Amino acid sequence: MWILVLNSGSSSLKFAVVNPGSGEVRLSGLAERLGSEAASMRMDRGGERQTHALKGGSYAQALDLVLAELGRLGLWGQLRAVGHRVVHGGERFSAPALITPEVLEAIRTCVPLAPLHNPANIAGIKAAIRAFPDLPQVAVFDTAFHQTMPEVAYRYAVPEAWYRQHGVRRYGFHGTSHAFVAAEAAQLLARPLTELKLVTAHLGNGCSVCAVLGGRSVDSSMGLTPLEGLVMGTRSGDVDPGLHDYISRQAGLSLTEVTAALNRESGLLALSGLTNDMRELEEAAARGHAQAQLAIDIFVNRLARSIAAMAVSLGGLDGVVFTGGIGENSASVRAATLTRLRVLGFAVDQEANGRAVRGHPGIITAPDSPPALVINTNEEWMIAREAQGLLNSD
Ligand code: ADP
Repeated sequence: MWILVLNSGSSSLKFAVVNPGSGEVRLSGLAERLGSEAASMRMDRGGERQTHALKGGSYAQALDLVLAELGRLGLWGQLRAVGHRVVHGGERFSAPALITPEVLEAIRTCVPLAPLHNPANIAGIKAAIRAFPDLPQVAVFDTAFHQTMPEVAYRYAVPEAWYRQHGVRRYGFHGTSHAFVAAEAAQLLARPLTELKLVTAHLGNGCSVCAVLGGRSVDSSMGLTPLEGLVMGTRSGDVDPGLHDYISRQAGLSLTEVTAALNRESGLLALSGLTNDMRELEEAAARGHAQAQLAIDIFVNRLARSIAAMAVSLGGLDGVVFTGGIGENSASVRAATLTRLRVLGFAVDQEANGRAVRGHPGIITAPDSPPALVINTNEEWMIAREAQGLLNSD
């Protein structure tokens, strides 16, 4: 049996048909710029790639194409469920949930916490219910893994009413990825996950680190929203909370404009004045672009500081895991980060680090160093497994 995994963005739909047992993917793809004239969909079938124009296409039309393809592949009837990535589950969801009208309503009540993401996730769920009315639909939340964080990690030092009435607390994100790579790391280290103190660093366009104690999240660099913490592609990460008021008065910006700039015009893009893409930054830095190098240095410094902070939350450190597009591919970011973590005893094995690129996970530290590992994340597989696990337990 197969699980259709859907990740719905504001104008995009990422999908994969995954075997929850083996992780095998039969069909995957991405529909982009939905709702516009330029809408298109890319489909991958075992190495064979096709692109379809979807002119003005909606989620529903994108799903119709997926449906037709499932029919052609003879997978129609072999689907067990649809698994949806949902960004914010608030305090309500600490595990995946079978989508009922009541669960959908609960996801809707989390919209103020994730105004960009949850409405898109809801639209994707509704379209999938229409397209696959007979299949169970399961929501898998980015925040759920972090619901095990203790109060010392999740509370902000702000008026209590903000927390009680408005849910102002730290939630953490990328939970599916952190949970997946922590379990994979335990296997690679040949030690039980329940005995390990790991820091997992998910470094993609969004970046976060997580303290994983015995397989459970006990701290995360991301907070109320996915803006807190590390420097990211276009997101600032941590800034002084006094910045909003100061810059809104100085530059004549509304709070909404300040928040938008911190989300979309900051991070690596702002520091380099060039791009949000780490690979391009590394190429520019190698050509002598000083601002590109500065952007990388600030990214690495903040990352190393954050990993060290997570070691405090864990009360020790048995290993650091790098994942996501940057974590899996950038040997130089990993080496620079571990060099800054000398204070915790880390020493890079340059050769092993150079070998560990996408598709080749491994341990990248010297024998006398605490281990640092490169693990390929696989959120689609994790969502399929979670969906299957929920259905089996029912
Ligand atoms: P998303 O968070 O959107 O899923 P990814 O996990 O694919 O994104 O990560 C995208 C980031 O990974 C980009 O900054 C990209 O430049 C970086 N990346 C991908 N390949 C490499 C590479 N070979 N070297 C350095 N950075 C890379």
